[in-house]
Amino acid sequence: MYPQTHFLLPFFVGAILVKLGWFSWELALLAGIFGVLIDLDHYIEHIFHAKKNRFSLAHTWNTSVITHKFEQRSFIHHKVGAVVVTLLLIVLAVFSHLWSLMFALAFYSHMLLDHVHIKHPHQIIIKLFGFYERESKVELVLDVLLIIGIVLVVI
Ligand SMILES: [Zn+2]
Repeated sequence: MYPQTHFLLPFFVGAILVKLGWFSWELALLAGIFGVLIDLDHYIEHIFHAKKNRFSLAHTWNTSVITHKFEQRSFIHHKVGAVVVTLLLIVLAVFSHLWSLMFALAFYSHMLLDHVHIKHPHQIIIKLFGFYERESKVELVLDVLLIIGIVLVVI
């Protein structure tokens, strides 16, 4: 999934938690931001594995979206990463259950979105400022629903 979806899902759930009085808006926003930042491993893997343009964000992005020349997901996107992160979240919960919940929301929503395989044959491919985007209509609909959900929770 794309960064906007990785932001919207944890922020939406975080907004619900705000309305329930369990979370602050700052934590909801941080959950969305960290939900996106988990994909920074793509950039790190790109630096290690790319033959050219190692430090180019555009090349990293386009390799991930279009060419798939090599696996850009690091261990954190796989089972071993989930186990390590879960153990870290348990330790963090001893010190701050709210921060642990915020990171858990960011991480598990990211894993859910990345590992749910939905057939999405209808895709829109656009190139904007050197960045390709292959957006599925399913993800676009999900993004719109999440935005509507956030607006409904906020008002
Ligand atoms: Zn990811």
